[in-house]
Amino acid sequence: MSVVIPAAYPVETLRKAFPGLQQSARGKPLIYFDNAATAQVPLPVLDALTQFHRNDRANIHRAVHELGQRATESYDAVRPKVAKFIGAKESREVVFVRGTTEAINLVANTWGRQHIGPGDQIVLSQMEHHSNIVPWQLLAEQVGAEIKVVPINDKGELDFDAYTRLLGSKTKLVALTHVSNALGTINPVKDIIQAAHAKNIPVLIDGAQAVPHAQVNVAELDADFYAFSAHKMYGPTGIGALYAKAELLMDMPPWHGGGDMIDQVSFSGTTFADIPHRFEAGTPDIAGVIGLGAAIDFLSEIGMEEIAQWESHLLKYAHQRLDGIPGVRPIGTAAKKAGVYSFVVDGVHAHDIGTLLDMEGIAVRTGHHCAQPVMERFGISSTARASFGLYNTIEEIDVFASALERVLTMFHR
Ligand code: PMP
Repeated sequence: MSVVIPAAYPVETLRKAFPGLQQSARGKPLIYFDNAATAQVPLPVLDALTQFHRNDRANIHRAVHELGQRATESYDAVRPKVAKFIGAKESREVVFVRGTTEAINLVANTWGRQHIGPGDQIVLSQMEHHSNIVPWQLLAEQVGAEIKVVPINDKGELDFDAYTRLLGSKTKLVALTHVSNALGTINPVKDIIQAAHAKNIPVLIDGAQAVPHAQVNVAELDADFYAFSAHKMYGPTGIGALYAKAELLMDMPPWHGGGDMIDQVSFSGTTFADIPHRFEAGTPDIAGVIGLGAAIDFLSEIGMEEIAQWESHLLKYAHQRLDGIPGVRPIGTAAKKAGVYSFVVDGVHAHDIGTLLDMEGIAVRTGHHCAQPVMERFGISSTARASFGLYNTIEEIDVFASALERVLTMFHR
């Protein structure tokens, strides 16, 4: 099979940086295809975490002692790094949170409560992850608002005409995913945002599956809110960021109260810190933020364009190699896709496929991928999903395809 391999992409060198990849699973060399759920971590990130815990461990923004200063410096250096990485105009537009889920909940509970009321509408899509559905449902229930859902077609692409038709005078927010974790679809977020802005509707983009795999520029997209998680971008778990335009953040009330988010506290009244600290109550995940910074350095050194090209090459190969296997039906065949190969085999439960592939050392995800409306749309309960990262190879896809062929002969005797 002829596939053009991007010249000089140093996949073998990169693989060596990931200790997690150098192991066996079920006695076979590990093939890790569950990157959309959580990616492996490279040595520079592990080193940054160790450096903090071994040498610089102290709380930030308070201490005059050396450790406190070192910790503060390492932590504070990450915010501008994140801002630059995602193309934010200012560092203060980056709020550290636990991840995409918390970022969306923060917006729902602050901006949402302030701006969304009875009879108002929030536009979501059928391909959203539960974390970009449930916070809005909770808000809608509390304030008497309504959720409107943009349908998707049989390929798993957003129905853009239906989307624009849903934008009306009652629409107060559009919240859509940049890339679908269940289907791989890359949404035309720039056009989505433009169409909403033409009607003065702000847009939140769930970037959990976009930031690790392509160059994102929030200012160019003109996103109002943009959320992502570090653990999918080769960083630590439990940390991520919310980008929000400064003028929006400045107008938002605090959500969590506590230390570090205040200006003055008194029983006669409390005033709050400037953005972004107003939204970061309590001791943050200091190590996590420092690890996120190391992950960004790692990704930047490789180059997001290079990573995107490599993963696109892997995806193309996966479709060529797997689509033709008798019984395999890919779910998600959008014209623009990220490195996600989701599939079903009629008559075979995805969990059985996952379990048998696991016996071969191949880690895929099976289930509804926290996107049950997608499953409903396709009339299925689950898929098996191979999702690729910057360190996956064509050879791994070949091993996967052969294993899948073997597994399926067991069901089709
Ligand atoms: N949105 C999408 C598209 C995702 O893929 C995920 C993670 N699977 C999330 C949101 C939630 O991310 P987290 O669990 O890191 O908050």
